[in-house]
Amino acid sequence: MTNRLDFQTTVADQVTLTGIGVHSGTPASVTLLPADAGTGIVFHRTDVSDDLQTDIPGRWDHVTATALCTVMADPARNGVSTVEHLMAALRGLGVDNVIVEMDGPEMPIMDGSAAAFVEAIDQVGLKRLDRGRRYLRIKKPVRFEQNGAWCELLPYSGTRFEVTIEFETPLIGRQTFASDMTPDVFRKEVSRARTFGQVKEVEKLWAMGFARGSSLENSVAVADDRVLNPEGTRWADEFVRHKTLDAVGDLALAGLPILGLYRSYKAGHRMNVAILAELFSKTGQDVFEIVEAPAWREHGNVERSGLAAAAFGPEVS
Ligand SMILES: [Zn+2]
Repeated sequence: MTNRLDFQTTVADQVTLTGIGVHSGTPASVTLLPADAGTGIVFHRTDVSDDLQTDIPGRWDHVTATALCTVMADPARNGVSTVEHLMAALRGLGVDNVIVEMDGPEMPIMDGSAAAFVEAIDQVGLKRLDRGRRYLRIKKPVRFEQNGAWCELLPYSGTRFEVTIEFETPLIGRQTFASDMTPDVFRKEVSRARTFGQVKEVEKLWAMGFARGSSLENSVAVADDRVLNPEGTRWADEFVRHKTLDAVGDLALAGLPILGLYRSYKAGHRMNVAILAELFSKTGQDVFEIVEAPAWREHGNVERSGLAAAAFGPEVS
C-alpha cells in the first residue's frame, strides 16, 4: 500500500487578471506569483514607494475593515481591499502559497464571483511543493453570536460548510447551503455564485461614494421581489451560495486550511473574522491543533482517501 504526504501547493506559473475595482470603479489588475512552501498568501502592492512595499499576510490579524468588503492593512498606504473572492478561490482550490501582486488598493471585482480567479488558477495549474501541508483541526466548538446572527466552528472529520441566510425580501427568504467542501464542490457549486445587493442599499452606497463600479456586470441586483439582471440568477439559491463563497474566503484568513464544520446563520465578513479572533484567543486551550503533513493512502480503501483521512491518517515517519 502506498502512503504519500499531502503536500503544500503553489501556482505552477504566474497569471494576471484585469478588471475594475467595485468601489473605485477604476481599472485594477492582480498577478498571482508562485511562492515557496510556508509563505502562505501574501499581498504585495507594486504601485507604492519602496519604503511602503511590505508584504501583507492574508490573515485575520491583518484585517482592518469588513463593512463593505474585507480590507487588509491600510489601502491608503500598502494595504488592499476586496480580497475575499480571491481568498475563496485560493482556499477552495487548495492553493497554499502565493504572492498576490496588485497595482492598486483594490482587487478587480470581475463578475462578482470567484469564477475568473478559478479559471486563472486552473489555466496555470498547481505545483506540488516538497513540504507537507499543515491543517488547523478544530477539537472543541467555538461560537460567536451577535444580534440574532451566529457562526460556529465544530469538530468534523473533513471540511464542511453549512450556511443559512434569511432576508425579508421573499425573493431571497431563507436559504441553506450545506456540503463538504472539496475543490470539486467549490468549483462547481460555489465559485460562480455572484455577490448581490438590494437596489435601495446600492443607491445609498452610491450617494456615499462607494460601489462606484457596481453594476449588473458584477452583482445580482435585487429590487423588492425581483432580480433586475436580464439573465436572472445562476441558481435559485445563488444568494446563499455566494455567502458560502464569502465564508470560504473569510476562513482562509486563518492562514491554514481548517478541518472542521463551519455553520452559520445570517453571518457575514465581520462575524467570520470575529470567530477566527475568538478561535485564536483560545490558543493553548486544546480547542484546536495544527496537524502537520498527515499521510493519506493513494490506493486502496476509498474511505481513507482525501481530506477526512488527512485528518486522522497515520503520520508518515
Ligand atoms: Zn462576496
